[in-house]
Amino acid sequence: MHQLTLAEIARGLADKKFSSEELTRALLARIHQLDPQINSFISVTDELAISQARAADARRAAGESGALLGAPIGHKDLFCTQGIRTSCASKMLDNFKAPYDATVVSKLAEAGTVTLGKTNMDEFAMGSANESSYYGPVKNPWNFEHVPGGSSGGSAAAVAARLLPAATATDTGGSIRQPAALTSLTGLKPTYGRVSRWGMIAYASSLDQAGPLARTAEDCALLLQGMAGFDAKDSTSIDEPVPDYSASLNASLEGLRIGLPKEYFGAGLDPRIAELVQASVKELEKLGAVVKEISLPNMQHAIPAYYVIAPAEASSNLSRFDGVRFGYRCENPVDLTDLYKRSRGEGFGAEVQRRIMVGAYALSAGYYDAYYLQAQKIRRLIKNDFMAAFNDVDVILGPTTPNLAWKIGAKNNDPVAEYLEDVYTITANLAGLPGLSMPAGFVDSLPVGVQLLAPYFHEGRLLNVAHRYQQVTDWHTRAPNGF
Ligand code: GLN
Repeated sequence: MHQLTLAEIARGLADKKFSSEELTRALLARIHQLDPQINSFISVTDELAISQARAADARRAAGESGALLGAPIGHKDLFCTQGIRTSCASKMLDNFKAPYDATVVSKLAEAGTVTLGKTNMDEFAMGSANESSYYGPVKNPWNFEHVPGGSSGGSAAAVAARLLPAATATDTGGSIRQPAALTSLTGLKPTYGRVSRWGMIAYASSLDQAGPLARTAEDCALLLQGMAGFDAKDSTSIDEPVPDYSASLNASLEGLRIGLPKEYFGAGLDPRIAELVQASVKELEKLGAVVKEISLPNMQHAIPAYYVIAPAEASSNLSRFDGVRFGYRCENPVDLTDLYKRSRGEGFGAEVQRRIMVGAYALSAGYYDAYYLQAQKIRRLIKNDFMAAFNDVDVILGPTTPNLAWKIGAKNNDPVAEYLEDVYTITANLAGLPGLSMPAGFVDSLPVGVQLLAPYFHEGRLLNVAHRYQQVTDWHTRAPNGF
């Protein structure tokens, strides 16, 4: 049963082949049996899952239908879940039980999903390897010695290991697409504002966006359908109608114009990945797409700009964790300053402290113009590059990551080496554009992903291209050994 996709589960439930409770119990047993080796969950919510599954079965028995009614999923542990620990993988929030559900969580619950647990992640979503979690690193099911990518590494590893058919995740600089690539999944970062950020613990508010991680584009369409939509509680949520993402999956790719940015294929890209990306382009050409080279000339400035903007916003967002209002408080503070200092010093891990310091520095008087303002200007240039490119092409295609999943620990002494892994994903966040990563092959038995980018609100086009590609390839159907 654990091999079923969300779409297959929907059919099985509709045809009464199994109940949501049976499926939920089977997956929970699998999580308890296999997850100790992977560490993809921070909390497994057995009781909640069983009660939600029973409720979904009752709704179905009463005549309700719906693709997500009774579908088991997991939530990245930065979505607030009422009465359930929401830790952000930080000691700071180890004891935090959210008083309400995030909009993503409540919308999916209304659609009938069943929450099996909260998935592991990099602390406060800062990272590309899922090594900075207070609860320990997540292992890549394709090879336990390697990272699954981050920061949504727990969601990715759980879905890749067939512990869950799909999970929610978030992407500030690549945290849905990069782990999708490194674990052979399909992951979609929607347009900024497409999915509500309300109840999602903020990292960098102008970049954060939630989306689905699943094995197929078809499943991403189903999950996104349940997540997307206007939310008055999020001031950056956009009031645009949500299209039927499943309806456009099979649209023809005849004449689709694909742009290959020359900057995506330069130095730094593993040539074996480049080869697989070119092979995916060939497949899409066979389906009728036409390919042309394009240029995104300001891409080289994206990482420096991002690593000013994201830490700047993080330093502001994380100032609320002061030992007074939320989470961890140090023992026996002697005065208020000591309370702040030690609560934050003991509650946050090294990478989070590094980002807070970088961000506070970039925002400080005297440096604001030199760093933050400059970074915002680069952001505009990057957006302009994309707008110019999308005059000529319908989607942009390239590698999701420059390298394969690296060995756990390999980049621990060099944070910048890890930052550079985001080189192809970060631009979409800076511009607010939707992006998708889909499985495109293996090198040394480790997965490789191809990234597709589209104009604002064209998530449907990304899912369509990925779905058609998945009709003629089988990379997305392969499971890691033993799973
Ligand atoms: N790796 C990037 C960072 O560390 C992106 C993380 C994310 O998308 N949440 O900031």
